[in-house]
Amino acid sequence: MTRRYDLQVHTDASPCSSAPPERVAAAAVDAGLDGIAVTDHDTLANVDAVRDAAPEGLEVIAAVEVTTTEGHLLALDVSKAPPRTDPLTAIDHVHDQGGVAVLSHPFDTLRQYYETDLDALADAVDGVEAVNSRCVRRRYNERAAAFASARGLPTTGGSDAHFPMEVGRAYTSVEGDGSLADAVRDGRVRPGGRGRYLSGHVATKLHRFRTASGRTAANLVSRRLP
Ligand SMILES: [Zn+2]
Ligand SMILES: [Zn+2]
Repeated sequence: MTRRYDLQVHTDASPCSSAPPERVAAAAVDAGLDGIAVTDHDTLANVDAVRDAAPEGLEVIAAVEVTTTEGHLLALDVSKAPPRTDPLTAIDHVHDQGGVAVLSHPFDTLRQYYETDLDALADAVDGVEAVNSRCVRRRYNERAAAFASARGLPTTGGSDAHFPMEVGRAYTSVEGDGSLADAVRDGRVRPGGRGRYLSGHVATKLHRFRTASGRTAANLVSRRLP
């Protein structure tokens, strides 16, 4: 049996998204997914709301996209948001809770990315996101896949949706029964779907422009993507 999960989905609990929980749940059903990880930036605030809106048969994984001092980290199947700290400490927090830690778009240099102590990182982490739909350059996902392959790490996929229409653009295929977390630990996961979704970033910039209050125009045109 193969299940499909989108392992990176944001909602309006993220400052860069305006997606209401019920629309995210509906979009996941429309995309034919078996589950999604709700991965808002540094918060679990909307996990229960998405669960409440999800129909029977759509699994909702409690998750966080942690802002570490280097790259972003997906903390999957956690009950508390890990602190915004260095990557290795954040990974320890995830493991202490029984969750799994996956490097999120790890080498996308237009966003936060990882560059130091990659050996220690590879030893500590459970997996690497190798298909992220919001990586606008193909080489960012390719480098993530090559890193995972060289280190023997499982790979996942996620849309990094900030709008409902993006949900399911990338996904993780899961082989076998049991929990998603165990499937990542056992390496029974495989990424699929599409990267290079530039228009999502354009939509996020517009959203920020509409919601920005008291922020300078310079912030809005910064080269860093959400
Ligand atoms: Zn991210
Ligand atoms: Zn974001």
